[in-house]
Amino acid sequence: MGVTIDRVGAVPLEAPLSEPFGYAQEWVTERSALLVRIEASDGTVGWGECWGPIAGTRGTVERLLGPEIEGEDPLDVERLSETLYDVGRAAYQSVVPLPALSGIDVALWDLTGKLLDVPVSTLLGGARRSAVRAYATGHYFKHGCDLDEQYERIAAEAIENAAALDAVKLKTGLDLIGYGPREDVELVRRVREAVGDEATLLVDANYAYDAPTAREVGRALESLDVHWFEEPVPPEDLDGYAHLREALDVRVAGGECHAPYEFDRLFERGCLDVAQPDVCNVGGLTAARRVATTASAHGVPVVPHVWGTPVAIAASLHLISTLPGHPWLEFDRSANPLREAVAADPLTADDDGRVPVPEGPGLGIELDEEAIARYRVE
Ligand code: CA
Repeated sequence: MGVTIDRVGAVPLEAPLSEPFGYAQEWVTERSALLVRIEASDGTVGWGECWGPIAGTRGTVERLLGPEIEGEDPLDVERLSETLYDVGRAAYQSVVPLPALSGIDVALWDLTGKLLDVPVSTLLGGARRSAVRAYATGHYFKHGCDLDEQYERIAAEAIENAAALDAVKLKTGLDLIGYGPREDVELVRRVREAVGDEATLLVDANYAYDAPTAREVGRALESLDVHWFEEPVPPEDLDGYAHLREALDVRVAGGECHAPYEFDRLFERGCLDVAQPDVCNVGGLTAARRVATTASAHGVPVVPHVWGTPVAIAASLHLISTLPGHPWLEFDRSANPLREAVAADPLTADDDGRVPVPEGPGLGIELDEEAIARYRVE
């Protein structure tokens, strides 16, 4: 018998923020992460990360899914991932606990890469590039600022990010602070003015609108040369997506809220110009790669949604390195002490705004166990 899976553990981390920031749906007051740590019988450790709240997912990892694979061969990643999908579906019925499954799946890929001494990108079929162009996510709403101050501070942040990276993405949905679509469009106009005509500008509504409002906003975005309009309507509104893609010239992007089987419907119905599965939410690298394959068959480029610690970023980089075309890395520039602390070497962009894919076995990152202990919560 070769190496087997000894233990699957969940590691909850939390870091308060000195200044909350907002987007269409909520204010973010702290950053949290749920890492998955899988230890093999020879002492090798693989790391993964789960999207979303710690609550619930932690118990699903530790008590429901984790015990299912203990004693198994960690190299059987896809078989184990499919087993966990079935276990999760049988347990919950109306949902599959995809964030928990994602964290375990990513940790299995990391562990397998380390055991075989190859990078995850090699396991996924081979890297097409050693570094990935990155766009800046950030430009969130500022706490306690009036509208003019919002415009000014967000535009200043965009200027800084546009100087360092290939593109910048800003948020709309100022309804959070009592405004509406008119002010959203004005925000985009101010940022376009600030970054200049040459900069690539992306807009993310975090489903702030219904379809008719999104159509109006989308037409204004076209006149501001916005490259894509992300999550214009709620994720359930596939008719809205399909209608907007037909009605608008600006690209329609989305996917961070969608499960693998929903991507099938999004592609079949022609809902997306850009697909954004989240590796830590869609079911891990196993599921994200399958979504990317389906996307490719429909001619839809994939730019994964990325939001988390260096575990999530590294897993995404390995996937992106294997994708066709010219994919971006979504590179979160908003405040996140965990992102800066938990890896021994944080992932950074080079002078050309590209983020190197980590080299070395597995995900290619070394975690700082002391920092993890510092941010760990019970
Ligand atoms: Ca988004």
